[in-house]
Amino acid sequence: MTPKDVHETRFMMGTLVSFTVVGVEKDQAEAAIHAATNEMQRIEDAFTIYGSVDNEVKHFNRSPVGQRIQLSDEVNMLLHIALKVQQQSHGAFNPALGALNKLWGFSQTPAPTHPPNKNRVEKKRQGLSHCVHESPEGWWRDSEQCQLDFGAIAKGYAIDRGIKILKDHAIQNAIIDAGGDLRLIGQHGKQAWRIGIRSPRDAKKMLGVLHLQGDVSVVTSGDYERFFMENGKRYHHILNPQTGCPSVKSQSVTVVAKQAMLADAWSTAVFVLGKKGVDLANKQALQVLGVDEDGQTFKSEGWHLLVQ
Ligand code: FAD
Ligand code: MG
Repeated sequence: MTPKDVHETRFMMGTLVSFTVVGVEKDQAEAAIHAATNEMQRIEDAFTIYGSVDNEVKHFNRSPVGQRIQLSDEVNMLLHIALKVQQQSHGAFNPALGALNKLWGFSQTPAPTHPPNKNRVEKKRQGLSHCVHESPEGWWRDSEQCQLDFGAIAKGYAIDRGIKILKDHAIQNAIIDAGGDLRLIGQHGKQAWRIGIRSPRDAKKMLGVLHLQGDVSVVTSGDYERFFMENGKRYHHILNPQTGCPSVKSQSVTVVAKQAMLADAWSTAVFVLGKKGVDLANKQALQVLGVDEDGQTFKSEGWHLLVQ
């Protein structure tokens, strides 16, 4: 008899992370999920800029301007990738806007209900475009407002590591879904996995359903989960580094890639860039489906190959 699917859910990185493991006995699935959870929690602790746990990222963010800081191989690796996406996306993605992000406060309690003062936004925004530097003695920052924030890439990285751990436990068919950002492997029984992409303004409506199998990530950045409205205007957590304010070009952007880490970073980058980001993402062999500020969809040329 085919074993039942095993589902487990944990709260990590400010969201519900759900695991679905298919085709193995419950004990094996639970041991694998337990190990994957531990790894993902380790990554949250290593990269978070919130809460009481201390880590290298926070240490860097409070280091005196100009002081060289050695980073572990893992933080070093993710920072290099983040800076590369920053360059490839012409600055739309910026992993150094931690101070600006904290000023807006979308990941803090209580959730914000008003935008911060414009002068304070301007102060935190200035000089962030190339403010993190590498030298033989270590990494350094050139201003107080330059603070690392891996919020747009570390969740994807954690998902990738979680999948790696599941595979190490001989799991061949599974999904890890962290609040709508997911990576899947194998199949769901004898069929492809079905992944629905919701409409940004109506949770009950689908923009499409993807039928995917093998090893694929689907990651969405949207303006509909962490936001408030004031005077009819929507303020949300994805910031345009050029203005220091929530980006206005998109309502949602979904990116399909092998690695969740890259899909995560690029969904944020294309969200900020809007339609014109599609070509840049396409250069990285990524597929994109977005909804612009007027509710019109835009997509990469290869997107139709994913939809059946
Ligand atoms: P994404 O588009 O993937 O990312 C948006 C986030 O990236 C923003 O919240 C900000 O952190 C950053 N960002 C904004 N604009 C840009 C830009 N232009 N370029 C680059 N980065 C940008 N949430 C909580 O409420 N509490 C927590 O304790 C908490 N801990 C977390 C710990 C970790 C390690 C991670 C990865 C996330 C955590 N989160 C937490 C969630 C986090 O604050 C973000 O809200 C979340 O990662 C956003 O994911 P997203 O897919 O919605 O949006
Ligand atoms: Mg992202």
